[in-house]
Amino acid sequence: MLKILLISLAVLVATLFTISKRNISQEKNSGYYNLLVSDSLKNKEKKMEDKIIRSEEEWKKILTPEQYRVLRQKGTERAYTGEYWNHFEEGVYKCAGCGAELFSSDTKFDSHCGWPSYFTPLAGDRVIYKEDRSFGMIRTEVLCAKCGGHLGHVFDDGPEPTGLRYCINSVSLIFEKRPKK
Ligand code: FE
Repeated sequence: MLKILLISLAVLVATLFTISKRNISQEKNSGYYNLLVSDSLKNKEKKMEDKIIRSEEEWKKILTPEQYRVLRQKGTERAYTGEYWNHFEEGVYKCAGCGAELFSSDTKFDSHCGWPSYFTPLAGDRVIYKEDRSFGMIRTEVLCAKCGGHLGHVFDDGPEPTGLRYCINSVSLIFEKRPKK
């Protein structure tokens, strides 16, 4: 009797296993499943494409020592020493690490603080923010969204329309002249 019960149980388990396996393989072969997989892969690839990830060794090869110190080690150039604090030509300021267009001359203003200052980035998603509690202060660090390079800090003492001052190291930027047409 026990033998019959055990055999029946084994048959039942085997049948259930076969059915569930068939369901999974059917699902895998269906167009919907493939669509889901390819979509999530595409999204992942796109996100990877958007970001630039390099090792410290690679950054050291690409950047000058001063760019590396500021962009990758969160250093700060001395006030009134950078290339752009007193620079007001028409054009675009790109990230010195990855070339992403970050700031426009249209939003640059003379803040008299010794670093190039802007009241907004070119688009909200070009930069990311991080709380910075170094040197006994609470500041908001501004980083390039594409390569994660340190750009500077943002303060709330800027002019209208935003009231913000993006205080950015010149060495983190590369200016490209682009006169208005
Ligand atoms: Fe960048």
